[in-house]
Amino acid sequence: MALTGLEIFKLLPKTNCKKCGRATCLAFAMQLAQKKAELKDCPDVSEEAKSVLGAASAPPIKLVTIGSGEKQVSIGEENVLFRHEEKFYNPTGVAITLSDDLDDEAFNERLKKINALKFTRVGTEIEIDLIALQNNSGDASKFAERAKNVSDNTHLSIILESKSADNMKAALGTCADKKPLIYGANAENWEAMATIAKEKNCPMTISAPTLEELADLTEKIKGAGVTEIVLNQVSESTKEILQGLTKIRRAALKKAFRQLGFPALTYMPNGNPIQEITSASAFMSKYAGIVVVDSCEPWQIMPLLTVRQNIFTDPQKPVQVEPKLYEVGQATEDSPVLFTTNFSLTYYTVEGEVEASRTPAYILAVGTEGTSVLTAYSGDKLNEDVISKAMTDSKIEEKVKHKKLIIPGLVAVLSAKIQEKTNWEVLVGPKEASGLPTYLKTTWH
Ligand code: SF4
Repeated sequence: MALTGLEIFKLLPKTNCKKCGRATCLAFAMQLAQKKAELKDCPDVSEEAKSVLGAASAPPIKLVTIGSGEKQVSIGEENVLFRHEEKFYNPTGVAITLSDDLDDEAFNERLKKINALKFTRVGTEIEIDLIALQNNSGDASKFAERAKNVSDNTHLSIILESKSADNMKAALGTCADKKPLIYGANAENWEAMATIAKEKNCPMTISAPTLEELADLTEKIKGAGVTEIVLNQVSESTKEILQGLTKIRRAALKKAFRQLGFPALTYMPNGNPIQEITSASAFMSKYAGIVVVDSCEPWQIMPLLTVRQNIFTDPQKPVQVEPKLYEVGQATEDSPVLFTTNFSLTYYTVEGEVEASRTPAYILAVGTEGTSVLTAYSGDKLNEDVISKAMTDSKIEEKVKHKKLIIPGLVAVLSAKIQEKTNWEVLVGPKEASGLPTYLKTTWH
């Protein structure tokens, strides 16, 4: 349970020595309570206070890491229920299933397909995170052989799924160094699974149909020495899973209920591929740490990763590109010059349409603190002075021999002022970027 400023104050040295950079111990205590200071800033705090305050200031949802190296997946350690209150920190891991009972050719083909699920969106590479290897064969040596194959041939993290502790042990014998997530523990086998997880230093999931049972089992697993636990409420109902995920998050954040203070993994209820991706998107919003899907077609996975990218950006910091002059294709001194703002989504939409037009061009991304054209205009971040300065800074005059500037149709109202300020002829382009290919092929020429 979080402590109040006064409760923290009682545990501090109360010497007001200012070594922490605050005027008094009380001021430091108040900032600590608001998470605006760190306990380590006070060099004189006692060991007893450290242990009390350390436990009280532990994150309400445990951070769990799966995998090793660059593609390690971290889930949990979230502080808020709603993204706009602060932001969500650790993106939901997306896992795709791979059954160990596929024949060699089908297995390797699916593995290759999963490995290739990478996309570029608004200038950022997005891809899935995990492969969930399922022991559908029920055979220990098959599971171990497939686990080794996956471990040797993927850069992604791994989930090993089996209810058999013996089979799990066999598979871990080939890939424990990759720190896979152990999936398959329940009320019957948790003890054997926890022993393996502790021995191999791997995180593990615990599955149960109710939150009460999950809370009971996490206590037992912690008692067995495993600290990295992932919750899995077993249900075939989207509604029930969504309610469970929300209750887990609320219990951890609002009630400081440590037994449920772990990230959650969820499989999708049965359904067609579109339903599966729709459910996964909903679980991602509230509040799955990992979603496991069967779908592995790019048209299914790209929308899911797009949803994730949108949820896990900082709502207080618009995603921006560097404000500067960009060249699309082999632009020459006769190429058109367009401007837009440096809001990533706007910029990359314009860039994509210019590319599609096959007309080499210059795009000036005007710095508007990452806001879109209309938002920037209405906030007076996009006016003739800003545009004129951006043009001068970019030295566009030295790159083209004409003096024609295509402006977004949404700010046609600025055309006369820009023309007057810059002495360039202003051409009003389309209102939507989708109109650019036709505009560049017909009107510009
Ligand atoms: S360093 Fe510690 S003892 Fe000194 S003022 Fe800060 S909180 Fe108080």
